[in-house]
Amino acid sequence: MKNILLIAASILLSAGVHAATPRVIAHRGYWNTEGSAKNSIRALIKADSIGCWGSEFDVWMTADSVLVINHDAEIEGLNIEHSTAAEVCSHRLADGENVPTLEQFLTIAKNLNLRLVCEIKTHDSRSNEKACIERTLAMFKHFGLEDRVEYVTFSRNGLIQLIASVPAGTSVQYPAGDYIPEQMKAFNGNGLNYRCKKLRKEPELIKRCHDLGISVKAWKILGTEDLRWCIEHGVDFITSDSPETHLHELKKIVEP
Ligand code: MG
Repeated sequence: MKNILLIAASILLSAGVHAATPRVIAHRGYWNTEGSAKNSIRALIKADSIGCWGSEFDVWMTADSVLVINHDAEIEGLNIEHSTAAEVCSHRLADGENVPTLEQFLTIAKNLNLRLVCEIKTHDSRSNEKACIERTLAMFKHFGLEDRVEYVTFSRNGLIQLIASVPAGTSVQYPAGDYIPEQMKAFNGNGLNYRCKKLRKEPELIKRCHDLGISVKAWKILGTEDLRWCIEHGVDFITSDSPETHLHELKKIVEP
């Protein structure tokens, strides 16, 4: 099997495609395991414990300007952006812990090793989103974690603000899939994040990104076939809901 992959890699390299071992990011932490929950502190710790390169999480700002971690705009009918932190954080996640604030999250993250992949959510109000980005950046600075964070946003306004505000060298990713690599380069962006399905239909996007010095993340990886494809086509990072399985499979493929 190793020989087949090496042959495939050399064919791809000779065709100008860059083969590499992608780094694994746990999508919303390692939640897909007993005693964990999406976007929980426990999921962050578990992602670190299995050796993920990074862990992704989602940040909102509440009506009283507190940064909290959650994927959706609402929790059981409560709109985060228009509710107080006390209201939002009183809700419990599936693992029994309360919805965490970013401050609580980073207090724990500071003592872990993995990279922090911080998605800033698209808020209803542009001024709220702008303030959310400013406060998030300030909090990473406060915790001394600026060199371990990278940012993701689906917001075009947020993308421009982040690129203009982050310290030099910080990766800012845009996963909506509607920007081509050349547009991202024109914004001085250094990372694109595409659905794996889109990359498999348009693999030339990977070479175009790499030629421009832009890294490529694939989300979400659904199975071994996706994983093999990403390895063979030089995807730099994969985002996974099953990071332990994919880390194991990755190891088997590259070190059989
Ligand atoms: Mg996210």
